[in-house]
Amino acid sequence: MKRSIALFREAKKVLVGGVNSPVRAFRAVEGDPIFVRSGKGARFTDADGKSYLDYCLSWGPMILGHAHPEVVAAATAAMRKGSSFGAPTELEVRLASEVRRALPSMERLRFTSSGTEAVMSALRVARAHTGRDLIVKFVGGYHGHADSLLVAAGSGAATLGRPDSAGVPIPWAKTTLLLPYNDLEAVHAIFKRFGREIAAVIVEPVAANMGVVPPREGFLETLRSVTRKYRSLLIFDEVITGFRLYYGGAQTANGIKPDLTCLGKIIGGGFPVGAYGGRRGLMELVAPVGPVYQAGTLSGNPVAMAAGLKTLEVLKREKPYAALAQRTAELAGGIRQLAGLAGIPVSVNHVASMFTVFFAPGAVSDFLSAKTADTRRYARFFHSLLADRVYFPPSQFEAAMLSVKHRSSDIDRTLDAVARAFKRI
Ligand SMILES: *Cc1c(COP(=O)(O)O)cnc(C)c1O
Repeated sequence: MKRSIALFREAKKVLVGGVNSPVRAFRAVEGDPIFVRSGKGARFTDADGKSYLDYCLSWGPMILGHAHPEVVAAATAAMRKGSSFGAPTELEVRLASEVRRALPSMERLRFTSSGTEAVMSALRVARAHTGRDLIVKFVGGYHGHADSLLVAAGSGAATLGRPDSAGVPIPWAKTTLLLPYNDLEAVHAIFKRFGREIAAVIVEPVAANMGVVPPREGFLETLRSVTRKYRSLLIFDEVITGFRLYYGGAQTANGIKPDLTCLGKIIGGGFPVGAYGGRRGLMELVAPVGPVYQAGTLSGNPVAMAAGLKTLEVLKREKPYAALAQRTAELAGGIRQLAGLAGIPVSVNHVASMFTVFFAPGAVSDFLSAKTADTRRYARFFHSLLADRVYFPPSQFEAAMLSVKHRSSDIDRTLDAVARAFKRI
């Protein structure tokens, strides 16, 4: 810890709060963040030379584990040829084609440098297409930090949003309507009231930013039919779920075709990336073909494209999804069992290779029930695991992830650490 603590002290003198993204600062679990020196497979090594089993995985991108040799080779080879030109390259065409093969609803797409940009741009397209301003989002859903999405619910079940961040103009926040995730009645009610002003509904088809919360049966289907009825667009934010649940997205398995899809994380293989796309007529609203302006100096960056393309190639070849889901189910089941033995109320949600251990008394199906979790207990759980060199996300409301490099012996080790944690907390 010594070197991490010293680095954090130094970092705070130059970086705001010592970090470049807030959750990294460990505020939700207290204590000093671990500074990472390097990573390999399912593990990373901190600045003090200690090795941790990593269930954060950069918040999702590293499904192949850290420093996968083939991804390293592909990115290095791309870099040798020049890392950015601001002119089109073949790699962009190849990654776009592969993404479209896996997600046919994305007939035309555009790469950006982050998921935030992808979402922001998709909303712009939706507003341009419909000539409407309102967006529906779900409480506890995270779609990046664009102004109109940094909103919180006011009082009441279905309300106009209010800013959830300083610096967001109230009129911006008011263009966002907030509903509880999985609440079909709220969806019907809001459309009855505002339907002809709603440009789009944006949703994580499996929520993963309030902890993992699967959609209830019929939820996504209802969003599809209601948006169709009112000629609003349905946007799937698959920034996390894209290529994490299946080769493709949540839409690959549930058969629901959104109008627009946002991607990020895995498709950049650990480099900054985002993408948004949809049917041709819609996406051709975007410049240079149409009137919606959107651009990026590093969009489609060759190194990111090469890393993403190689990541998809390995996933396609190795088909790890069934094994990942199986291993995650084992871990989740094991944690549940240990909690039962220890008499600690937990609700463990898991979907494919994502899971969350909620220290909540009952089932978690939306943000309200997620918020019943005992975050102080989670913090103690987190630090106990950390002391045993198992790194969970430093917040109760984030998804833990597995990579293809998490082996059966790692699951056993994790369950040992969890058993000790349950005794300590
Ligand atoms: C991570 C994430 C984003 C934002 O992506 P960034 O690359 O961090 O800007 C958007 N939506 C979802 C669902 C995410 O998980």
